[in-house]
Amino acid sequence: LFETNPPPWELAVEDDVLLASIVFSRSPHGPYDYRIPDSLREELKPGMRVGVPLGHRKKPTPGWCVAVKEGKAAHRKLRDVAECIDESPLCDASLVRLVMWMAHYYQVPAGQVFDTLIPSSVRSAAGTKQTTYFTPAKEATDTVIDKLPAKQQAVMRHLVSANRSMTSAELAVAAKCTEDPIRRLKKKGLIVPEVRREMHSGIRILAQTNDGEADRTHELTEQQTAALERINAAVDSGRGRTLLLHGVTGSGKTEVYIRAIEHVVSQAGSAIVMVPEISLTPQTRGRFESRFPSVAVLHSQMSPSERHFHWQRIRRGEVQVVIGPRSAVFAPLPNLGLIVLDEEHDTSFKQDSQPRYHARKVAHARAMSLGIPLLLGSATPSMEAWHATQSGHAELISMPDRVAGRPMPDVQLVDLRVRDDRAGGGAISIPLKRAVDETLREKGQAILLLNRRGFATTIQCPACGHVVACPDCDMPLTHHRDGGKAMCHYCDYTIGTPPWCPACRFDGIRYGGLGTQKLEVEAKAKFPDAKIARMDGDTMKRPGSHQRVLSEFRSGEIDILLGTQMIAKGLDFPNVLLVGVINADSALHFPDFRAAERTFQLVTQVAGRTGRGDRGGRVIVQTFTPEHPAIQAASRHDYFKFVEEEMVNRRKFNYPPLGSVARIIIRGPVEEKTEDVADSILARLESARDLLKSEVRILGPAPPPIVRLRGKYRFHLLLQATDSAVVGEVIRRALADFKTDPKDEIEYLIDIDPVNL
Ligand code: ADP
Ligand code: ZN
Repeated sequence: LFETNPPPWELAVEDDVLLASIVFSRSPHGPYDYRIPDSLREELKPGMRVGVPLGHRKKPTPGWCVAVKEGKAAHRKLRDVAECIDESPLCDASLVRLVMWMAHYYQVPAGQVFDTLIPSSVRSAAGTKQTTYFTPAKEATDTVIDKLPAKQQAVMRHLVSANRSMTSAELAVAAKCTEDPIRRLKKKGLIVPEVRREMHSGIRILAQTNDGEADRTHELTEQQTAALERINAAVDSGRGRTLLLHGVTGSGKTEVYIRAIEHVVSQAGSAIVMVPEISLTPQTRGRFESRFPSVAVLHSQMSPSERHFHWQRIRRGEVQVVIGPRSAVFAPLPNLGLIVLDEEHDTSFKQDSQPRYHARKVAHARAMSLGIPLLLGSATPSMEAWHATQSGHAELISMPDRVAGRPMPDVQLVDLRVRDDRAGGGAISIPLKRAVDETLREKGQAILLLNRRGFATTIQCPACGHVVACPDCDMPLTHHRDGGKAMCHYCDYTIGTPPWCPACRFDGIRYGGLGTQKLEVEAKAKFPDAKIARMDGDTMKRPGSHQRVLSEFRSGEIDILLGTQMIAKGLDFPNVLLVGVINADSALHFPDFRAAERTFQLVTQVAGRTGRGDRGGRVIVQTFTPEHPAIQAASRHDYFKFVEEEMVNRRKFNYPPLGSVARIIIRGPVEEKTEDVADSILARLESARDLLKSEVRILGPAPPPIVRLRGKYRFHLLLQATDSAVVGEVIRRALADFKTDPKDEIEYLIDIDPVNL
């Protein structure tokens, strides 16, 4: 699944001199070879930052050492490494290998990958200060000391008898003097200074305290026991392998992770647990923190000092479990024994800036190179993970039932095409309104989901639900207001915007959707006595607001929680008796081949937020297309039916996981010039493809769903093939020496395995 060609960073061994291969975060990226001077021979190791001369720059340029090797320097003019920046490597050998693999696979300079792997707070040693320690010099013999002035003598005697290095402050106290005699001794070369970086003493108190909730140990269900046995066996096998824990919402996956990690920790191992950032709630933290003595929770609101402090703790082996979002995949745990990726289908595991890595893929590479298991967990596994179980790359573990004999919630579909159910043009249909009223009467809570991606300008008929799509790609066309065009964002197929529905001739065809804000206004009007909170990207900007709303919801202060997909994830509230999905189609008609998968996941996940207590729960899904397979499957909690049908679609167009896709985004301030660059990249891709005699399909250049973003025009090219290595190689060859004119300010980005198209 993840193999690459012979790794280009494994270098031939020659003799003569010792060389260091150095990469840089900024252009030129290297790698370049430098001679290691004798003075740095002992010190310099791969994974360390060094300063080296580069071009005509006066000061040494910082770079990362990726390899130390013997080489012949005679035939090349090599310059010397000037200095080591770090005292010890920031990455061990296996992480350096991971960096090089990522650089190759994602086609990103290795220096930039290092900068992603090692947090900037660690690089800048946030929260530390420099302290100078002194030891006696060889020259400071008894005879020399005897001849010193009294104060200096006192300092020397204390230092010698202490038999350890001391700071000047310590020495001044011990010898009851000022710092002046110490300065003089240093000048005379009788004491040797050594500068060390240390954490401010105050940082320690930032160590996380357990403010989450305590967790009870549960007696495992039969399904949990069976799952745990298989995971433990994988841990004990000492082999790299992937396990997919497919457990329905509420089947108790977290308890299984905790037990499996207990097993790893009992053998002096450690574990990484990755969750979507939004699931890093006090609830999740509490469950882990109360079960393990030493947990590090990495989250985006940490201060740089805190982050650095935890990174150091992790590296020193003081932490058993690291919990965090996708970047936790890089946690420098020694003795790593298990990597868990919870909600593995979640799109937040893909980084949407350089390097555009997917935590699942990187976790896999890391686990395989260490020979440890990767445990993926989800109620709605991604097509990629599912396909891996079918092709023998991953082992499937199923937990088909909820704990404590709880049933899955009933799902009722409301057909929005039926006029009688639509209440006067509002978003909340009559059946949904009735259900909310009942829930409020029973003192229960409700969740209303409105997918924000509904803002995409899909062209949908409100009478029959028909969506205008591209005949070649099967993708919904996107409406462009300027020029009245409807366009395919995969292949650039364009027609005039149809004035009436091509399927039923209804002439009120509409574009776009409705937002959470509007929904909140409507909900307040329809349920005047209920306390309503909205959770979306806009209301959740302030740090802590997410946690606050959730704790208010938990305590019952809020009756109705409405929001975007944010509220669909991982929440475990027993009093939620109703979940309403305002428009299940909004994700369905987004121009992305994963649209059906997203819809199935979203509806299933949000439905899973109810029925978690003894009072049961139900779900109402509003849709224009109740017959759509993804919505049908979600309403019946039937994952298998969904994957079976969806796999047929993917096969038809060779979309992942059956084929591989990469995207190149070209952006610039002037539309014509940007398109010109896109065209010349296309030409290069085509000739690289022909040269390699590969069957890569190249689509575009076409404008992506959001054409103009932050004042830049964007175009994208899609490459598609059965083999991911071939796609990568075509791009590598095509763009190896590609340069754009700097004054045009055009950039291009390579996105391997894009997730949101
Ligand atoms: P999932 O992640 O699969 O949706 P969770 O791990 O959140 O499920 O578990 C759902 C709820 O069931 C939690 O409140 C958890 O404490 C509880 N639970 C887990 N395992 C058991 C068990 N064996 N017996 C009873 N309750 C359990
Ligand atoms: Zn098309």
